[in-house]
Amino acid sequence: MSTRTLGLDDRLYGYLLAANGRETPIQARLRHDTHDIPGAGMQISPELGQFLGLVVRMIGARLCLEVGTFTGYSTLSVALALPADGHIVACDINEHTTALAQSYWAEAGVASKIHLRIAPALNTLDLLIADHDAGGFDFAFIDADKSNYDAYYERCLTLLRPGGVIAIDNVLWSGKVADEHVQDEDTVALRHLNAKIAQDGRVDSCLVPIGDGLTLARKR
Ligand code: CA
Repeated sequence: MSTRTLGLDDRLYGYLLAANGRETPIQARLRHDTHDIPGAGMQISPELGQFLGLVVRMIGARLCLEVGTFTGYSTLSVALALPADGHIVACDINEHTTALAQSYWAEAGVASKIHLRIAPALNTLDLLIADHDAGGFDFAFIDADKSNYDAYYERCLTLLRPGGVIAIDNVLWSGKVADEHVQDEDTVALRHLNAKIAQDGRVDSCLVPIGDGLTLARKR
């Protein structure tokens, strides 16, 4: 028995996927249809989608934020977990990938829960703060350009209610955060944010080794 997190070889990862087994047919099709799209590696893994949906249900989230939508798998996973009167504000700058996303959201019957904002996410988040929506959101998922992660984190923290949760993707960055020889802008930004959140008295947090690494931060 291991006292540390297991490494997942292909066989064990396949078992994990099968054991989770709650991906809907539309989610599976969206995931497969994204394989041929430039940037397909940005799509979250199915177990992460299932995990995000579970967190949304666990905290009883109704109002959610997403920074970085791509083809909409994470958005769909969250929207499927929301109650009928729940909403997610999805921020992205790409009209083409989000057009594909919207077709799947419609097919899944959750399009009315998703408010897509095509604009730089910082602008959208600042508008929400200016509209006095601060403190009104329950959940935020951050999965966009890494150099802005800290700015996204700060704004999402402002927009969340106490007890709300921020989920931040790619915080292990294929292992590069632990390699001191890697000093590119994205890796350094992730390293700084990981260190900051670990000491941030405004949240309780845990870095979870799911997908490319996910930090959960709960606002105090
Ligand atoms: Ca990601």
